[in-house]
Amino acid sequence: QVKEQGRDAIQFFNKYMADKARNVLVMEGDLHKALEQHRFSLYYQPRVDVTTSQIVGAEALLRWEHPDRGMISPAEFIPILETSGLIVEVGRWVLEDSIRQVKIWQEQGIWKDDMRLGVNISPRQFRSSEFVNDVTKILQEVGINPSLIEMEITEGIVIHNLEETVATMSSLCELGINFALDDFGTGYSSISYLKQLPVAILKVDQSFVRDITFDRNDRVLVETISAMGNMLGLDVVAEGVETCDQLHLVREYNCKYYQGYLCSPPVNADAFAELLTTKDITWGCGANKRDEK
Ligand code: C2E
Ligand code: MG
Ligand code: MG
Ligand code: MG
Repeated sequence: QVKEQGRDAIQFFNKYMADKARNVLVMEGDLHKALEQHRFSLYYQPRVDVTTSQIVGAEALLRWEHPDRGMISPAEFIPILETSGLIVEVGRWVLEDSIRQVKIWQEQGIWKDDMRLGVNISPRQFRSSEFVNDVTKILQEVGINPSLIEMEITEGIVIHNLEETVATMSSLCELGINFALDDFGTGYSSISYLKQLPVAILKVDQSFVRDITFDRNDRVLVETISAMGNMLGLDVVAEGVETCDQLHLVREYNCKYYQGYLCSPPVNADAFAELLTTKDITWGCGANKRDEK
């Protein structure tokens, strides 16, 4: 009886694994097609100064509209792009397309000189032999100041070779590009990487911010991470701020910037341009100078 059940469980498990593997293969095929048929697009989420409520930049976020399944979350398809190696090409497109978009906004006068563009870079993309060349080429072709670009990396980027990682980062820093450590605090050795990698921005993961209003531990963590970042001379960004109460807390803890639904979810380029030209700022929660006027 027990043995029987065990066998059933194993068969069930095998079937589950096989289904999953098949699903990944199908998705991989779909992603190939998506690349050929230009079915990827970019959304932009504002980064906001917590004290002035001004938009100080944008993070470009990849979107894929599947012909049958509609919008699919990057959490589902980025890992498949990564394991299949497709991320190298898709990532190059993300970088180029977002930089071209910013160039357009600059020419329209709505993207100010001190605004920054965050672009997520995956480990496989970062390690590809063409990466630094690709970046250099795109920057030259589009003709943009590299210092407005922030590459968002996670510690996954270092899994192979720390020295190589630092060398690649350094040559990009020499071009003027800055690095942000994304999802800070969720990995195994975030603090040690903070010491070893040339990063200028620290993004506090949204999992710490989510319950900040009622979870004392999360409050302590965000306050401590922020203090550490500030003392190391980094700009600290709180991710996932959705409410005024959360904003008040991250402001109190001296995070300099935030991203989150409170200001706006990621939106398409047209909607983002509209945000940039919006006059009345409602996402400061009444606690900034502009609101008092
Ligand atoms: P991430 O870089 O940490 O991006 C932040 C994620 O948090 C985004 O999810 C964003 O939509 C979401 N978010 C922002 N504000 C809020 C909020 O107030 N509440 C909640 N609940 N969520 C919020 P998204 O767009 O689904 O992207 C997920 C992840 O996929 C990104 O995490 C990033 O790691 C990856 N990703 C997205 N685009 C790219 C890309 O072009 N290249 C690479 N390599 N990875 C990407
Ligand atoms: Mg990011
Ligand atoms: Mg993040
Ligand atoms: Mg994330």
